[in-house]
Amino acid sequence: MHSFDVAILDECRKRGRHPSEMTEAEFTAIALGVRSGLDKGVAIAARVTSEVRRVVGASVPREVADVRLAVCQSNACGKYATIASGEGACLACGCAGHGLMTKVLDASEACPDSPPRWTEHN
Ligand code: SF4
Repeated sequence: MHSFDVAILDECRKRGRHPSEMTEAEFTAIALGVRSGLDKGVAIAARVTSEVRRVVGASVPREVADVRLAVCQSNACGKYATIASGEGACLACGCAGHGLMTKVLDASEACPDSPPRWTEHN
């Protein structure tokens, strides 16, 4: 059984594409497509919830989000990719572009790597 990041890259390869040439929507569609039914629903719900928290201002301080994003961009996890816009994408959760920014801004979110590279912010 492949890990999620390998499954995303496999699916990209099957389509003859690389994340660096994909839009956020294209990458997100592939990331959601490799998830199973229930897992896909959970992922979509988490994204919507994070977006609502961001809109209502329930976000971490900007400096915390900046540190989280810098950790992602360091690619110490080996699961960070860049999409066509130059924005980041996480191969471990499938968040890309605006979606990844929303994730790092959400206090209740944590890096999905094991162990997590950054954690919930209280
Ligand atoms: S959220 Fe974690 S696994 Fe994903 S890119 Fe950032 S550090 Fe890597």
